[in-house]
Amino acid sequence: MTIAANLGYPRIGPRRELKQALEAHWAGRLPEDGLRQAAAALRAQARALQRGSGIAHVPSGDFAFYDHVLETACAFGCVPPGYGWSGEGPVPLATLFALARGTPEAPALEMTKWFDTNYHYLVPTPSAAQGFRLVENRWAAAVAEGLALGCRTRPVLLGPVSFLLLSKPLDTDRPLDLLPRLLPAYEAALRGIAEAGAAWVQIDEPCLATDLPAGAEAAYRLAYDRLAQAAPGLGLLLASYFGGLGENLPLVASLPVDGVHLDLVRDPGQLAPALEALRPDLWLSLGVVDGRNVWRGDLRRAFGLLRQAAARSGGARRLMVAPSCSLLHVPQSLAHETALDPALRRRLAFAEEKLAEVALLARALDEGESVAAAAFRESDAVLAEARADAAAHRADIAARLAAVTPAMERRASPFAARAARQQARLGLPPLPVTTIGSLPQTAEVRQARARLARGETTPADYEAAMARLTEEAVRWQEAAGIDVLVHGEFERNDMVKYFAEQLDGYAVTKHGWVQSYGSRCVAPPIIWRDVARPAPMTVRWAAHAQSLTARPVKGMLTGPVTMLQWAFAREDIPRETVCRQIALAIRDEAEDLEAAGIAIVQIDEPAFREGLPLRAAARADYLRWAVAAFRLAASGLGDATQVHTHMCYSEFEDIIGAIAALDADVISIETARSRMALLDAFAGFDYPNAVGPGVWDIHSPRVPEASEMAALARQALRRLPAGRLWLNPDCGCKTRGWAEVRPAVGNLVAAARQLRAEL
Ligand code: GLN
Ligand code: ZN
Repeated sequence: MTIAANLGYPRIGPRRELKQALEAHWAGRLPEDGLRQAAAALRAQARALQRGSGIAHVPSGDFAFYDHVLETACAFGCVPPGYGWSGEGPVPLATLFALARGTPEAPALEMTKWFDTNYHYLVPTPSAAQGFRLVENRWAAAVAEGLALGCRTRPVLLGPVSFLLLSKPLDTDRPLDLLPRLLPAYEAALRGIAEAGAAWVQIDEPCLATDLPAGAEAAYRLAYDRLAQAAPGLGLLLASYFGGLGENLPLVASLPVDGVHLDLVRDPGQLAPALEALRPDLWLSLGVVDGRNVWRGDLRRAFGLLRQAAARSGGARRLMVAPSCSLLHVPQSLAHETALDPALRRRLAFAEEKLAEVALLARALDEGESVAAAAFRESDAVLAEARADAAAHRADIAARLAAVTPAMERRASPFAARAARQQARLGLPPLPVTTIGSLPQTAEVRQARARLARGETTPADYEAAMARLTEEAVRWQEAAGIDVLVHGEFERNDMVKYFAEQLDGYAVTKHGWVQSYGSRCVAPPIIWRDVARPAPMTVRWAAHAQSLTARPVKGMLTGPVTMLQWAFAREDIPRETVCRQIALAIRDEAEDLEAAGIAIVQIDEPAFREGLPLRAAARADYLRWAVAAFRLAASGLGDATQVHTHMCYSEFEDIIGAIAALDADVISIETARSRMALLDAFAGFDYPNAVGPGVWDIHSPRVPEASEMAALARQALRRLPAGRLWLNPDCGCKTRGWAEVRPAVGNLVAAARQLRAEL
């Protein structure tokens, strides 16, 4: 019997119920009991839904109040002091949230991107001194919860090697050295899971799809030799995803596990060698339904892979059919997307629809293709229709792209010459202060937008309200002493969606939410046709703000790489081509801003790093086209116009050459949480242009003192010359309230003034 399995399910809820419950709890409106009840209800709903779709292996323990990596760390007692945990018993929810969000006394843990996704995890800080103890078996509890409601689930653990590789230990640079201390805690977890009544456990080792660091192979052998013995009778499914096993296949083949999950969407080519290498008695979980994109599967192709696997073993190989990875990264259900163009809607599958594909493929493998005949025909028809879509390939756009010259990807003069002209125009003080763009999206702003969506306000009234907020924001920034102002981005629902709504080729969803971090979700737009800009998108907002002040106002744009990376993109043409189409649209917008008198244009690329392929071998090609696309977007601007870019959650060490090649005049980066460590890459590289290291972590509600920001800035001054340093927060302020932004910006300006006096 082929098993239809799932690796993980969206946890936020079809209507973002978890977000609402979390935010009510943080605001003191929902007690912990209520939050836990809401979470249990969501889990019950998810289990029932998956079961109802025909999934036999329903995951559990994939739920998290904020982040599953953080919860793994807490379950093993990796909690630094100062967050309210006594060291005994389960880590309280209040501690979990303190670690995730920070408190007035203690900063939040560092947060970073989960592989090449837009999901963020909190970086665990284990230590040899603290050691590891299973203080709460959250996985056994998840199994028991399912069983109590009649559903035997398959708990999901982040595997010990990946857990350590994703950690930043406090007392060693070599996280894998901690493995021998960690393993007993994992063994205890597995024993508890078996006792709770699970038949299988899924152990995620996504690092197996990456280039492993030295020592990892030995660590994997040690870990799985031990874990395989911890709970005899409990099936161990080792899962990797986001890529192929590549040269790690022999290692995986040598591990004493009971099953292996392969991502056959990212790397279908790994099936044949895996069938050779993996023991014939091993269960094989074939990830043939894309967990990273929203397109309906090519069922016939997926079925071909499954059949290949079945045939290769003469029918003896035991198979599971699954999505390529957890469905955490796609929206939950297409059912509510009633406003999408029907031609697009037919081509889509969200989590619910993907599970139906998984279940159908598993059935077809057991019962014969004929049980799926109608679905296969439909899948063929949808693919044929997509191929025949004339609006997907526009001759005017192809012609413009073909006419791009190398000169169009280069500013007229080198940085030093540009900087002089810009300074002559702008007259900024040393260590200029700016923000990243967005100002608080208050209830007032969101309600105005909701009223517009419901037709309760006219577009004219809505725009007047946004213009008034912009004016207030300009006045406040002038009074606060900020040197380079922003218009505040009040009119933007989201930095990608706002543009996507105005560009040809994109579609936006109503409820297509995907978790980004904690309670924060994004609804990535869908790129399904050639992209072009029919009309200016931001110019009147920037021009309005600039008309109110003599100080420079930055025009704010989202860059081509981020516009691609934070969308669900078509797969029928290369990503490079999609990115260049977007770059031309952004280039037009930048030039229009310049023509409207805007002296500084910021092209945000927070997703630049995220797009980097996980495997080193594929990186150069990505960086080549990503850099070129950014330069194409920015290089229509004259020397006297200053180009800023912004990136958050990036490690720069291995891409600093590409960052320099972007040739932005100023780059603002996220450095507050890492206490300026991220700046080392810039200093070590002799980064030539200006940098604005974040001195205020806006992802936390905590307001830092001026002295704290000044201390961070002094650390930056030790690494880079004052003449090329700016001061700014880590990211936009849209998620913060004015009660935090006003004092924090006040402190930021005070810190800048103090430092200028010291120069
Ligand atoms: N300009 C955007 C803002 O301030 C940038 C956001 C981001 O980098 N994520 O909101
Ligand atoms: Zn940012």
